[in-house]
Amino acid sequence: MTTNITTISESKEVRGLNLIAAHSHIRGLGVDAATLDVRSQAQGLVGQQKARKAAAVILQMVKDGQIAGRAVLISGPPSTGKTAIAMGMAQSLGPDVPFTMLASSEIFSLEMSKTEALTQAFRKSIGVRIKEESEIIEGEVVEIQIDRSVSGGNKQGKLTIKTTDMETVYDMGTKMIDSMTKEKVIAGDVISIDKSSGKITKLGRSYTRSRDYDAMGADTKFVSCPEGELQVRKEVVHTVSLHEIDVINSRTQGFLALFSGDTGEIRSEIRDQINTKVGEWKEEGKAEIIPGVLFIDEVHMLDIECFSYINRALEAELAPVVIMASNRGNARIRGTDYRSPHGLPLDFLDRVVIISTQQYSAEDVSQILAIRAQEEEVDLSVDALALLTKIGQEAGLRYASNLITTSTLLSQKRKAKEISIDDIQRSFRLFYDPGRSAKFVTESEKSLIS
Ligand code: ATP
Repeated sequence: MTTNITTISESKEVRGLNLIAAHSHIRGLGVDAATLDVRSQAQGLVGQQKARKAAAVILQMVKDGQIAGRAVLISGPPSTGKTAIAMGMAQSLGPDVPFTMLASSEIFSLEMSKTEALTQAFRKSIGVRIKEESEIIEGEVVEIQIDRSVSGGNKQGKLTIKTTDMETVYDMGTKMIDSMTKEKVIAGDVISIDKSSGKITKLGRSYTRSRDYDAMGADTKFVSCPEGELQVRKEVVHTVSLHEIDVINSRTQGFLALFSGDTGEIRSEIRDQINTKVGEWKEEGKAEIIPGVLFIDEVHMLDIECFSYINRALEAELAPVVIMASNRGNARIRGTDYRSPHGLPLDFLDRVVIISTQQYSAEDVSQILAIRAQEEEVDLSVDALALLTKIGQEAGLRYASNLITTSTLLSQKRKAKEISIDDIQRSFRLFYDPGRSAKFVTESEKSLIS
């Protein structure tokens, strides 16, 4: 099985391009990870402190690997930041913890069964951190830095060796590094690194003294070295998702499907084989499972079959954390005649942890819109922001946010430096919000096709 494919962090970046630009201003939850203190405005998020704090607790549990196989529901009125909070969580996860975003309606529009689409989403959200053999590096040492300021004292520091051929940087982190290290390998030295053992041998200069180093790191080790040699074992770690391993090993699809996204259905025998293989790697210490997060937006759009699938999938040995969002109160469970809170079956709702979001104050709305204007690199006049805030409170933040974009075009047309209240008013007249649109539909029922 090959593992030379897009890593989680790379594919996250690619997916990032598709992430709704509406949330591009969000950089995290704005919660202090150590104290769980929530600042009223931080990392692009404003207000909603209780929900953000709850999300931070969940996030910590994800990071500690304590919450895999659980489901969280973020519920609240439209435009109250449910997706924004989920995006904040995604930003705060480590670079190789998978985060998958799924709008429930996607399940019904893909050219595959609902359960296959859900299975793929689940498996995209489980990472496998695979450790590989030493990296092959050979070349001239061009730079060595020993930074003892990291934790003070002579025996601790940060060692960085750069070689010419690959611009490789060995970042040893804060380690026990003897002050003699500097004399052992210095800039201008020629070194070679043994492919199998990862042993660095200095070719250009002879050592005068032998020393033992014992600086163990997460992915790099100094081991005790005989005279004349400095041994470095460097493990290369890739993180891929279970879904990526499935696709690569699915004979009908091949790895190119990863780029086209057109993976089709994957046979269950392949998945069984991969689960077994990954289990073996785990036993042998070659791999680590990283349960990530699957975010399902508009969860009330799922039907009863999807809910029973998710219920079962959460109990499987390999399961991510499922975070769902819904803006519905009591709603019909799709595929049944029953109504229930948020349109979720009651037995499913029972096992869900609920975080709720509240309506915003005018001040919060104003701050969020100001952040959005900054994100779009436009200036709003004071009265334009005041009007936009009023619109945001009445017609929703998403609509008000869209008006910033359309008003920007209008203000640019008149070569103005900032958006004026007039631009906002004209945009408001040009583009309907859902409320006015619904009213229009009711009033013009006769002339519209039904
Ligand atoms: P819906 O139920 O309609 O899907 P939602 O609760 O998921 O809505 P969002 O899409 O998160 O709402 O919010 C609407 C817009 O407002 C987005 O651009 C979002 O980034 C922004 N936003 C919402 N809440 C906040 C917040 N607390 N801080 C910063 N931006 C926010």
